[in-house]
Amino acid sequence: METSFEINLDPVDMSYFVMRPLEIAEIKLPTVGIVSSRYGMRMHPITHRKEMHRGIDLVNERFSPLFAVCNGIVEKVGEDRYMGKYVILSTVWGEVYYAHCSKVLVKEGTFVSAGDIIALMGNTGRSTGVHLHFGVKEGENWLEPELLLSLSYISYAWRILEVKGLIWLR
Ligand SMILES: [Zn+2]
Repeated sequence: METSFEINLDPVDMSYFVMRPLEIAEIKLPTVGIVSSRYGMRMHPITHRKEMHRGIDLVNERFSPLFAVCNGIVEKVGEDRYMGKYVILSTVWGEVYYAHCSKVLVKEGTFVSAGDIIALMGNTGRSTGVHLHFGVKEGENWLEPELLLSLSYISYAWRILEVKGLIWLR
């Protein structure tokens, strides 16, 4: 029996994570939701063509809050026919994308902290239902967002240790 996994990062890219140990303590989930589509090759639900899905889709009710996953600056707030209403944060992890929002609550150039509500979930742009499309881009490369999101659990565990006084970072 053969089991195969598709891993989208080569080993060199892991430096992306190990070079930023302190920031790991500052990662939150972008929203609460069910994963409806993961990063990687997929059959697109609208075009019915096989294409790369450069982010992760999380489904919840319309107007569910979307949170800044880490500290950053609001790089762009916009709207187009693909991403719908979107917001891009500039962070130490790269550019963080939130697409298909019903409403963006922050303005370009402002600082956001991990956990701040920055937008509300919606169904704008090229979308077949209410969801958040969450993407992470460093330079020209789209990254596997689940790796960043998995760090939010480490961050959560980290905070528990911090609250219990077992580690002191700041
Ligand atoms: Zn998506």
